Amino acid sequence: MLKLYNTASRKLEAFKPLGEEVKIYTCGPTVYSEPHIGNYAAYTYWDLLVRALKVNGFKVKRVLNLTDVGHLVSDGDEGEDKLEKGAEREGKTPFEVADYYIKVYLDNYAKMEFLPADVVARATYYIEADMRAVDLMTEHGFTYETTDGVYFDTAKFADYAKFARLDLAGLQAGARVGFSSEKRNASDFAVWKFIQPGEKHAMRWDYLGRPGYPGWHLECSTIIHEVLGEPIDIHTGGVDHIPVHHSNEIAQSYAAYGHDLSRFWLHCDFITIDGQKISKSLGNTYTLEDLEKRGFSAMDYKMWLLSGHYQGTRNFTFDSLEAAKNRRLNWRNRIASLLQSAGPVALSSPKIDDNFGGPPPSAPPADGFDKILSAVNNNLNSAEAFAIIDNSELGLDDWQKIDELFGLRLIADSPDLTAEISGLIREREEAREKKDFARADEIRDELARRGVTLKDTPGGAVWQYIK
Ligand SMILES: [Zn+2]
Repeated sequence: MLKLYNTASRKLEAFKPLGEEVKIYTCGPTVYSEPHIGNYAAYTYWDLLVRALKVNGFKVKRVLNLTDVGHLVSDGDEGEDKLEKGAEREGKTPFEVADYYIKVYLDNYAKMEFLPADVVARATYYIEADMRAVDLMTEHGFTYETTDGVYFDTAKFADYAKFARLDLAGLQAGARVGFSSEKRNASDFAVWKFIQPGEKHAMRWDYLGRPGYPGWHLECSTIIHEVLGEPIDIHTGGVDHIPVHHSNEIAQSYAAYGHDLSRFWLHCDFITIDGQKISKSLGNTYTLEDLEKRGFSAMDYKMWLLSGHYQGTRNFTFDSLEAAKNRRLNWRNRIASLLQSAGPVALSSPKIDDNFGGPPPSAPPADGFDKILSAVNNNLNSAEAFAIIDNSELGLDDWQKIDELFGLRLIADSPDLTAEISGLIREREEAREKKDFARADEIRDELARRGVTLKDTPGGAVWQYIK
């Protein structure tokens, strides 16, 4: 039974889908700049969520949105649109900037072995639906207009504070003087922004007789309504989404469509790097390519992410990444050893009483994978699942299932080299017998180039991956 921590109830709850298909929505990235490794953390955990649902036999329909309009620098209703800012920086149009970074994100998601979302929804493709949603909210009496846009009146939605346990009175008292004086309540937010005369904003659509663009929070309510239909089963995001973005999504969907937005809400925490937040000014915005240059693959990084829990703050260091890389190599070598026990490498002159071949085939306990899955079913506890993998005897079929569950390319990156290199291994043995150590060393170097080394065991030489 899959149990998930639901932010809405602040409880661990048994998961049961509302319908035949599990409907999942993930708040996606704002596609305006080069993603750093921290940007893959959430999607790694939600990839595990989808994989766990599938391994448990559920049918899943998952939507990921890409924000290419309306996300302002301040994360509120002020400041420049991030896409407009990216366009200025790169001398392109905002649409070109979005096209470029969407490709970067999706290519890197593939590198991270994320199962592709069933629908990838780009915000600017849903502008008309956004307008219809604002019309509905207005019709239902939840909005008011200012010179700056159409605002959601949070005082009209009685449950506004409930989801995030917000202190609205405190928020009101703390509101800056003079801040958008036409706003009725500090927690009110723009569902549509008007472009002021003289304001530069390339992305603009005519609505209510003026050029404008949707507020950042609106696209998620709209896309969920158009593609999945609310209520959905699971909505995912980062902990920073709880007080504003997700509270606003819930308010909008209720005001426009009269429904709850989602049954379950899952939120992951952030990673820090060397104990600090990730920021350009600290020079720690490493990309996947930066890790590759230092000899770490996307899978090593995914291994690092999954060795912790999605609800914990994770601190990234290159030492801990090295440990994750070695752990993955160790797992791949356990696969290599299983491959060899299925068909051992023959040595040229085995002694009769040797345990011929590689390590003896192990009979793995039948429940090997079940224990791993139950750890994951306990609120996606991949950290515990990894500890179980470290300490269990597993067969090739278990490793296959581990790959399905975590997407770590363990099997794909662990080809059976036995047939390919058995000639070289035999030649090395013969060279050593003839005391031709120069040739034996040459062969060792040749094997190293192919990414393997030989380990001499009482049963003969076995090969292992070194990278
Ligand atoms: Zn969202």
